[in-house]
Amino acid sequence: MDDYAWGVAVANDLVATSPTVRAGEDALPGPAALAEFLAAHRLHRDGPPAGEDVRQVRFLRREVRGIIETETAEQAVAGARVLIRRAGLPPALAPRGDGRWEWVVPTAPGAGLADELAALAAVGVLGVVRTLGHERFRPCAAPGCRGVFADISRAGRRRYCMPDVCGNRVNVANHRARRREGVR
Ligand SMILES: [Zn+2]
Repeated sequence: MDDYAWGVAVANDLVATSPTVRAGEDALPGPAALAEFLAAHRLHRDGPPAGEDVRQVRFLRREVRGIIETETAEQAVAGARVLIRRAGLPPALAPRGDGRWEWVVPTAPGAGLADELAALAAVGVLGVVRTLGHERFRPCAAPGCRGVFADISRAGRRRYCMPDVCGNRVNVANHRARRREGVR
């Protein structure tokens, strides 16, 4: 729970796989893509995800987006509470490996993949509200992009949901605009 950044990364990246953000294309089209998503976020499970997992994770994606789009901190906290209750067990302390302990939210044995992701994303959301404030939930600043994200950068100046994609798009557009002006 101290390390909520992991959950935030999962929440942000999950929302960014949506067709809403990717011009109609779903970046989680099937189990293979979901397996890649899990590996990219250091989430290890026994056995590959199934088609039903994909369906549930896509549904979760909409719920997480809804929480990032909430208007108040109270709404975000209430939404995260719903998610965490799906599989989350009471908070516990786990050894961190350096002689110290950290807060963790364990999940129920046998919890489904989407429910585990829900707990992880919820811990991320709660960490943002508690540590940085609800104003860190933002829409992407790239024109036309419908992405939303939680900004946990130290300075709090992150502008794009997918910095590599949306930030580049803006740079290219600015560059073209400058060239057009030059031609005139
Ligand atoms: Zn974006």
